[in-house]
Amino acid sequence: MDISLKDYDVIIAGAGPAGSVIAATVAQAGYRVLVLEKNASCGSPCAGYISKTINIEPPDESVIQSEIRTMRTYLPDLSFHDFHINGFVVDRPSFDTDLAMKAKACGAEIKWGSPLTGIAPGVVEFRGGRASSKIVAGADGVFSRTASILGLKKQKFAVCAQYHMKGIRPLFQTSEILFNSDYAPGGYAWIYPTGEDSAKVGVGIITGSPRSYLDRFIRESPVSDRLNGKITESITGALPVGGLREKLCRGNILLAGDSAGMADPVTGAGINNAMLAGNIAGKIIIEALKSDDVAVLGRYENQIRRLLGKPLERSLEKRKKLETCRNNELLQKHLPELWVTFKQY
Ligand SMILES: Cc1cc2nc3c(=O)[nH]c(=O)nc-3n(C[C@H](O)[C@H](O)[C@H](O)COP(=O)(O)OP(=O)(O)OC[C@H]3O[C@@H](n4cnc5c(N)ncnc54)[C@H](O)[C@@H]3O)c2cc1C
Repeated sequence: MDISLKDYDVIIAGAGPAGSVIAATVAQAGYRVLVLEKNASCGSPCAGYISKTINIEPPDESVIQSEIRTMRTYLPDLSFHDFHINGFVVDRPSFDTDLAMKAKACGAEIKWGSPLTGIAPGVVEFRGGRASSKIVAGADGVFSRTASILGLKKQKFAVCAQYHMKGIRPLFQTSEILFNSDYAPGGYAWIYPTGEDSAKVGVGIITGSPRSYLDRFIRESPVSDRLNGKITESITGALPVGGLREKLCRGNILLAGDSAGMADPVTGAGINNAMLAGNIAGKIIIEALKSDDVAVLGRYENQIRRLLGKPLERSLEKRKKLETCRNNELLQKHLPELWVTFKQY
C-alpha cells in the first residue's frame, strides 16, 4: 500500500505518556503523525510517582513536586519497612503536557477534544472527522476504545481516589504505602509528598467506593493525626490490574501502556512501562514504515512480551494472593511475600 496516499503515516489515540512518546519518536524520524486526544488537555488521574531509570529521560525540573528517596511500607500492625528508591513525584497534567509538547515540537499534530470513535478499513473516525493512516496506535488508557474495536476482552481494573492535601505532615522525600483491609481492601493507601506540608493522599481498591475508603482513611486511620488539613484537589480514576492483554497487536493496529495492560497489577505503577512501550512501539513503527510492511509490527508484541511478560505475570500471581488476604491477620502474615520492597518477595 502506498503510504503517500494516506493522510498520515500513524494515527495515535491518546496523549498520555505512551501516546506522546510514540508520537515524538515517529515524528522525529520525519513521518506524519496525528495524535487524537479525547480531552481538551492532558493528564490522567494519577499520584505521579516515576522511577528514575536509564530507559526514560528524567522529567523536567518544573514538573517535579518532590524527589523520593525512600518507600516506607506499613503492615496492618503499623510496623514498617523502609526501602531505598530513587524517583520523583510529578504533577501529572504538567508532565503529560510536557511530553505532548515535545511530540508537537518533533512535528506531530495533536487534535484535542477528539476521541477516536471507530476504525474502518484504512480510516480512523473521531469526533469531528475522519482521517486515514497506515498504522494506528491505541494509547487510549485502561478503557481503551481501540482495544474494544479489536474485540479484546475488558480488562480487570482497580479503582482509586486521591486528594491533594495542604497543611498536613507528610514524610520528607518518602512515599508511604499503607496496607490495611479496613481502609483499602485488596489494595493500599498512599501518601506521596508534594511539599513540606502537602501530599497526594489516595486509596486504590478492587471493589467499592474508593472515595468512601479514602475519607475513612483520612478520618480514622492510625496516621490520621498527620492528615488533618485542607483538600485542594480531588480525583478518581482506574488502572488495569490484570496484566498484559491477550493480544497487543493485530494487523496495522498496536496497543501501548494501560490500553495494553502494562501497569503493575500490585503496585499499580504504569507510567514507566507506558513510556518504555511507547519508545519500543515508536521504533518498530518506523521500521514498518521504512519497509512499507505492517507485518513488522509483530516484533513489537514479541519485544514487549520478552521485556514485560514475566514481571507482569509474577505480579499478577501476587495480586491473586493479595486478594485472598481478606483480613488484617492474613495481610500481616503474607504481605512480605506480596510487596515488591520486601526481601521475601
Ligand atoms: C489514582 C491513580 C494513581 C496512579 N498513580 C501512579 C503512580 O504514582 N505512578 C505510576 O507509574 N502510575 C500510576 N498510575 C497509573 C498511571 O496513571 C497509568 O499507568 C499511566 O497513565 C498509563 O499511561 P498511558 O499513556 O498508557 O495512559 P493514560 O495516561 O491513561 O493516557 C491515555 C490518554 O488517552 C486518552 N483517551 C482515552 N480514550 C480515548 C479515545 N477514545 N480517543 C482518544 N484519546 C483517548 C485519555 O484522555 C488519556 O489522555 C495511577 C493511576 C491512578 C488511576
